[in-house]
Amino acid sequence: MRERIGLYVHIPFCHTKCGYCDFNSYAMQGPIVQAFEDALRREIEQSPYSGSAIDTLFFGGGTPTFLTGDSLTQILELLFKRFGIHPDAEITSEANPGTVDTAKLKTMREAGFNRLSFGVQSFDAAELKRMERIHSPEEVFTAVMAAREAGFDNLNLDLIYALPDQPLERWQANLLKAIQLQPEHLSLYGLMLEPNTRFYHLYQKGRLRLPDDETQLAMHAFARACAQEHGYQPYEISNYAKPGRECQHNLIYWHNMPYFGFGPGAVSYWEGARWTNIKHPREYIRRVKEGEPLGFESERLTGWERVAETIMLGLRLEAGIDWEALETRFQLPIRSHYAEVLIALESRGWLQQQNGSARLTEEGFLWHSEAAAAFFEG
Ligand code: SF4
Repeated sequence: MRERIGLYVHIPFCHTKCGYCDFNSYAMQGPIVQAFEDALRREIEQSPYSGSAIDTLFFGGGTPTFLTGDSLTQILELLFKRFGIHPDAEITSEANPGTVDTAKLKTMREAGFNRLSFGVQSFDAAELKRMERIHSPEEVFTAVMAAREAGFDNLNLDLIYALPDQPLERWQANLLKAIQLQPEHLSLYGLMLEPNTRFYHLYQKGRLRLPDDETQLAMHAFARACAQEHGYQPYEISNYAKPGRECQHNLIYWHNMPYFGFGPGAVSYWEGARWTNIKHPREYIRRVKEGEPLGFESERLTGWERVAETIMLGLRLEAGIDWEALETRFQLPIRSHYAEVLIALESRGWLQQQNGSARLTEEGFLWHSEAAAAFFEG
């Protein structure tokens, strides 16, 4: 497979910090926003990788649509000037339904954004409130209509299941409401309790009750069955798409292909090296101003480490791993190296091999982390 290259821009601001969120996001406003935009533009202008061919762009956060349509346009225009962006590039922005209207989305569409990913999470007002989301269920409908009116024909809706006190029926209703809106893509995640979130601390104190394991499995099974019944094919553990509408940017990550990241906390992966920008917006702005290096973490991966990561990520995909393509890409005897691991996973019923490829079984998907870990030990 040709190495495709992605470009990610991180906008770190949100109106409030949601109770379950451990992303690099900050409830900040005022002059820091303009200072951040200036720093981001400077980071892009000074990139040693300018001129690289780019296949996909993704603006994530935080909340990219916290910025004005004009600000997002200026950043995108700069990227077009500095990089060789493919004329058919998928250009996505995450969007919070509470931060968009038709005018803003029209500005973004005209600038070149061609895909929106809405953080919907739930259609239940009480659930949204408990998550500390700023939008209402009605605003999701308005935002999707505004996106269609603005000319977006490629939309993703993010939903979360296994929320505190969520019964199976409420999750079923949430998913069906999302499907009624006919997005091209669905991302359906089970809630993860991450340390340093309000949800996690409440859980530790016994003040937050999650659905039991059996209900969570039923929610996952419903998501898979219901999405497929409505024409969304599962192509990754948590992602479903109408034919041809898989997220091209995320596929770059899942195939462990290279990408450049701009903004606080953004990660870049290039020629086997991975580095992460400093996370806090204030320190990021200071370093850009002072001309100091932005990286605060970096690592260079060996050939076999890259192979293990590529397998770990590839096992997230329904298509699984194409051994011949992988061996050609890394010029290593990968199948024979992992022969024992493969036999062990097959005998547990977690992995199946067919026609030169390996993929997790339905049961294996439930144990993805454990299955993937075996390749790091092997
Ligand atoms: S809107 Fe998204 S990024 Fe911002 S705090 Fe909420 S979950 Fe985190």
